[in-house]
Amino acid sequence: MVTPIDEFGTQVCVASGVATAKAERFQLLVAALLSSQTQDPITYAAMQRLHQLGEGGGGLTIEAVLATKEERLDELLQPVGFHRRKAQQLKRVASILRSRHHDDVPTGLDELLALPGIGPKIARVILLLAWGKVDGIVVDTHVHRLAQRLGWAGATMDPESTRRELEDWIPRELWGKLSLAVVGFGQAVCTARNPSCTSCPLAAECPSAFKIQPATRMKMKKPPARLEKEQQRGKSNSE
Ligand code: SF4
Repeated sequence: MVTPIDEFGTQVCVASGVATAKAERFQLLVAALLSSQTQDPITYAAMQRLHQLGEGGGGLTIEAVLATKEERLDELLQPVGFHRRKAQQLKRVASILRSRHHDDVPTGLDELLALPGIGPKIARVILLLAWGKVDGIVVDTHVHRLAQRLGWAGATMDPESTRRELEDWIPRELWGKLSLAVVGFGQAVCTARNPSCTSCPLAAECPSAFKIQPATRMKMKKPPARLEKEQQRGKSNSE
């Protein structure tokens, strides 16, 4: 089964034939930063536009971001969620990587968390994909939802709390693989609004199986009688 994360996830957002390992790591960081509050295909499309940056289309590098005006970056990012703020963050991240990290992505969680726009989830994704380092389970919205539905973690709104609970009992050697596998499963099978319990291989074990109401279209409320009369009057006046 091919899921959105397989086709459009952060790991496939690097340009083909990227010149150096440093540039590849930077592109992974940028894709991870853009991915928050944004669907994978939208992030992927924005990354394709960013790959055209640089003199003569030299690609998405720290130099290219520093040389590009923030307004232009903002244009290229749209319709990524919070594109204006992310364009700002991208400029600041590029500048910090240049001045403090020898033009490279840091290798430590704390250094990544010190960068603008990088929270715990994004920092762990970057460590995993850019450096192959596993520093905890990546709990995004899909992993969080699945953990709740399957009873893998207690009811909480806080993804960090879910992460700590999962890490208490899931063997460390599975943390990296689990993050990617569960995200794909959440996108394709156990979706937020209409989980496919009938075809789910986990249904027999899942305490939430067949208990989640499919999303329904919002019904328009009938307007109060006074408004209805006014609307009818307005309609007949315009006819
Ligand atoms: S049985 Fe339904 S709720 Fe449970 S994991 Fe599968 S799709 Fe999700």
